[in-house]
Amino acid sequence: MIHLAVLLAGGTGSRMNHPHKDKLLNPINGTNAFRLSYQAFLNSRKVENAIIVYRDSQQKEMLSVEIELVHKQNSRTFLPIWVKGGVERKDSVSNALINCPANCEFVYVHDCARPMIQSNTIDQLEQIVSKVGAVAIARPVSDTIKKISHLNPKNTEAPCKTESIDRSSLWIMETPQVSRKDWLLEGIQLASKKKLQVTDEVSLLELIGKKVSLLTPSYPNPKLTSVADLPYFKFLIPQK
Ligand code: C5P
Repeated sequence: MIHLAVLLAGGTGSRMNHPHKDKLLNPINGTNAFRLSYQAFLNSRKVENAIIVYRDSQQKEMLSVEIELVHKQNSRTFLPIWVKGGVERKDSVSNALINCPANCEFVYVHDCARPMIQSNTIDQLEQIVSKVGAVAIARPVSDTIKKISHLNPKNTEAPCKTESIDRSSLWIMETPQVSRKDWLLEGIQLASKKKLQVTDEVSLLELIGKKVSLLTPSYPNPKLTSVADLPYFKFLIPQK
């Protein structure tokens, strides 16, 4: 029963708009988002190896340096499988699954842009997925959500019609999203047949009618998206 991490690092980070082009390697308190994500999976109990989805050969070299550094500080090491990413996140996931060893039963798809993930949470995910087949990190929406249908992008100050949405059944999806590999492959096949755009793995499971357990950690697990997020991450991540 092999559990494999799929660590997604193949994005362009275009929203970062920053001299450190790669948001995953952007220094934060002596570490970075990729290193922390890799470390968390390496220190978990059941994940046996990681597929690293990278952008290009230059980034692959930089990620390898990070991995060496983490291995030096740990008694356990992975023998990562390198897979080149695709145009969209879903293409990167698809490339990873195609290159997944045949004996892998469960995959933990994780955006390396979420560096707060903790090893004990990954262990909890393992316990759940082994029983039910699919589980994702998610949390209930606590903000008020509005639907705005006709916003003028050239004049966002212009008054617009708003619609309220009942938030009692709304959840924010995060990663890791963990599933039986065969379910994800089935979902990917169906999504590509129907030419659907999917932005997470749970959407693939929805397509094939599978139920998913939800796990909400007691700590924040935000995604590093833009430069404006950096001060928050500097606050969350202990100084090395
Ligand atoms: O762009 P966004 O922040 O939503 O990307 C989420 C994660 O997916 C990031 O870790 C990014 O590196 C990864 N990604 C990828 N391949 C893509 C796009 C995003 O591996 N084509």
